[in-house]
Amino acid sequence: MSSQRSALIIGSSGQDGSYLSELLASKGYDVHGLERSHAESRSTSEGGAMTRHFGDLSDCNSLVRVINTVRPDEVYNLGAQSQINLSFSVPEHTADITGLGVTRILETLHRTECPARFYQASSSELFGDTTISPQNEQTPFSPRNPYATAKAYGFYITRNYRESYGMFAVNGILYNHESPRRDESYVTRKITLSLARIMTGRQDCLALGNLEAKRDWGYAKEFVEGMWLMMQQEKPDDFVLATGHRHSVREFLEHCLDCTGMKWTKSGDGDDETYKDAKGNVIVRIDPRFKRPTVAKEAFIGDASKAKKVLGWQAKTTLKELADIMMTSDMKKLGIKA
Ligand code: NAP
Repeated sequence: MSSQRSALIIGSSGQDGSYLSELLASKGYDVHGLERSHAESRSTSEGGAMTRHFGDLSDCNSLVRVINTVRPDEVYNLGAQSQINLSFSVPEHTADITGLGVTRILETLHRTECPARFYQASSSELFGDTTISPQNEQTPFSPRNPYATAKAYGFYITRNYRESYGMFAVNGILYNHESPRRDESYVTRKITLSLARIMTGRQDCLALGNLEAKRDWGYAKEFVEGMWLMMQQEKPDDFVLATGHRHSVREFLEHCLDCTGMKWTKSGDGDDETYKDAKGNVIVRIDPRFKRPTVAKEAFIGDASKAKKVLGWQAKTTLKELADIMMTSDMKKLGIKA
């Protein structure tokens, strides 16, 4: 009998799925991914092999098939309709995939008597507009959008299966984490990709919303290590993963501008504020349409001290380093020498 451990990643084509598949392969796991299309995944070739299975979180039969085929030791659910803005347009779909999808996996594991450990990708969005700062595992939830509400359901059903059936089921409550594999719909990647395009003349200007919006931003590659550590503990438990530092979109933008090597200047203020290149061309401007009418997140910052104490996990990459990693990658992709 083989002693090689196997893992199934649901949502393996996404940012975290691609890093997690590489991490698990490097640890000697037999890695399987559930994906809903045959499209290229965001993983690079550096990570090692993963067997791809096709299925969907809305489709129980596909979950039963893949779990019975793989009989994994660990299941990581990273699959979700994960875009907050989109969740207001497709709230029912978001509830179905991001919320009910978690039950479909847990119930499949239960019914097929698969003793796999289960990781649920919970989110700092659960804390919504909390005024308690920083937030930890004890902070009450206050979800403020359909995505967060579906994630709250996923969180509690994971806990419920742990308590009702004694399953090893854990929630990772993760704060924002970015990387060169982040989807372009997120502001960090929009900035790095747009600046690289501006450098090559493929784009004139980058339009952004509120530059003062602040987030606790970490590096995805480090955060997937925290997920894996949660699954190696003696007892199942829930953990916050965060950097514990808040930075503004402006800070990230200016680190990225510095990485490009362009000489840039700033002028104007409010909605008339612009960033110009050495020739006086406007390369960044404010577009009020991108200012989100969402809740202010003044208090939003994670306290990952439990993860540090129990898992020995700590975020190390600074915002400046993250900007450098992402900017260098997008410049390289567009053929620009750093
Ligand atoms: P992502 O890049 O958006 O990946 C989401 C994954 O879910 C993709 O592989 C996507 O597949 C898959 N998916 C979507 N709908 C599905 C369906 N109906 N059936 C099966 N799979 C489906 O997200 P991420 O940044 O890697 O994040 C991973 C997880 O952590 C998500 O659940 C997210 O909500 C959560 N999270 C992320 C952050 C963060 O800052 N990144 C923070 C907290 C929590 P396609 O490639 O086919 O679209």
